[in-house]
Amino acid sequence: MEINLISDTVTKPTPEMLKAMMIAQVGDDVFKTDPTVTALEEKVASLFGMEAALFFPSGTMANQTAIKLHTQPGEQLICDTYTHVYNYEGGGASFNSGVSCKLVEGTRGMMTANQVEAAINPPDFYHSPLTSLVSIENTTNKGGGACWDLEELRKIRWVCSSHNLAFHLDGARLWNALIAQKESPLEYGKIFDTISVCLSKGLGCPVGSLLVGNKDDMVKAIRIRKIFGGGMRQAGFLAAAGIYALDHHRERLKEDHRRAKEIGEVLGELTFVDYIAPIETNIIIFGIDERKMGVPQFIQKLSEKNILLMGMGKEKLRIVTHLDYTENSHEVFLTELRSLFK
Ligand SMILES: *Cc1c(COP(=O)(O)O)cnc(C)c1O
Repeated sequence: MEINLISDTVTKPTPEMLKAMMIAQVGDDVFKTDPTVTALEEKVASLFGMEAALFFPSGTMANQTAIKLHTQPGEQLICDTYTHVYNYEGGGASFNSGVSCKLVEGTRGMMTANQVEAAINPPDFYHSPLTSLVSIENTTNKGGGACWDLEELRKIRWVCSSHNLAFHLDGARLWNALIAQKESPLEYGKIFDTISVCLSKGLGCPVGSLLVGNKDDMVKAIRIRKIFGGGMRQAGFLAAAGIYALDHHRERLKEDHRRAKEIGEVLGELTFVDYIAPIETNIIIFGIDERKMGVPQFIQKLSEKNILLMGMGKEKLRIVTHLDYTENSHEVFLTELRSLFK
């Protein structure tokens, strides 16, 4: 049995999800005639109390579409140094939208409203790029699955409104934050202009993300998605997986979070583990003392037992729990951790 802790994207559809996919009614979503895609979009829009949603093949494309929607070439967006839109989307903000990123050094991927306000370029100072968008991420990926404080987000909303900036949420793992913080998606719908959410991470779908926002923006987003090559035809088979996952795989994220905390406790017992970042959701980031144990050696020892995890550069490692990391996998992993590194 392989235990893959590299990412929550490695999950495969469950038999029940596959069944829901197999019996889905489909049409041609580029002509907007796929009833299952439409049902998924309506379901997600209403979860957030927003007007409309649009189905995308990836979270990257949903974020890139949002950036394109809210900016003009030459302008600037504000984001934390840790954000996915800056680090892991292949430079898409500049390639697709011709915008630059003003980076803010937050804490575990989270900026304060004061930092955001200080990063805005004065609109009448034509030497600097015009600031038009603020983009944040919840949970933060590079920040180790940290969850934002809703109050701070409301303050940033206020800053955005008073400076005429759009506010986008990269919610690839927002489902994790909602469960961990016991929050309602409706609260998020009130704060942001657009929100992207992934179905293919904690929720366990094979493919898919959605962008949520107002009707006008989502009509414009259809055109941008087309330009990016993201129009999909009988996408209802994929949307059916999303509907199934929203109904059956959200509450269970608590299990991923509990297991992540328990892994953290066992890591804490290992003498060569230097630090463990606070564990709030399903991501564990920790560092090991390389004088006692090398990162490649640690990864190798586990991989000999069919347990996979990822280095994050230097002394840092990452573990991500997910739907296919079962209670049984959990027991095996904790036992191996204890016995391999006694
Ligand atoms: C995974 C992820 C995305 C989108 O990734 P895709 O692989 O393109 O679906 C966006 N933002 C964050 C924070 C992510 O972790």
